[in-house]
Amino acid sequence: MEAKELMEKAVRFHGHICPGLAIGVLAAKYVLEQGYDYSPNEELVAIVENDNCSVDALQAILGTTFGKGNLIHQDYGKNNFTFYDRRTEKGVKLSIKISKSSDKKLTRDEKIQFLLNSKPEGIFNIYEIDFTPPGLAQIEESVPCEICGELTMNSRLMTYNNSEMCIPCYKKMRK
Ligand SMILES: [Zn+2]
Ligand SMILES: [Zn+2]
Repeated sequence: MEAKELMEKAVRFHGHICPGLAIGVLAAKYVLEQGYDYSPNEELVAIVENDNCSVDALQAILGTTFGKGNLIHQDYGKNNFTFYDRRTEKGVKLSIKISKSSDKKLTRDEKIQFLLNSKPEGIFNIYEIDFTPPGLAQIEESVPCEICGELTMNSRLMTYNNSEMCIPCYKKMRK
């Protein structure tokens, strides 16, 4: 698929057109061209280091979604995108470069067009990486928080004053 068609697909999901989304489209286009495929289940996993507009392009185009557990957010504030393919046991990381367009004073629309017409290698540093994917999403038992009573995943319970509680209740207790 061409960048333009991929962008249209991403916009339908994301709601508006923006340069951030174009960055995600370019990353998704690159991995599709490298033989990675849309992921109906957890074949492909994406690890993102920001939660900006670009991530929605991955969800729409690659099927790496928050709900399926094959989209993992690490809150590092970087425009880095790492992909692992469990079928081929390949991994690739894309890391955005300082943009040459930034000193050209492009308008927003020009910036979007610039990104969509760019070669991925021009926008990202791209590395092949070892296949070290995170584990598959786990289905876990939930138990009631002893303070608020809301069902909470076992692994997220905190112990404080001999009670097991959810994270928000724990934070209130600690104030
Ligand atoms: Zn956006
Ligand atoms: Zn609670």
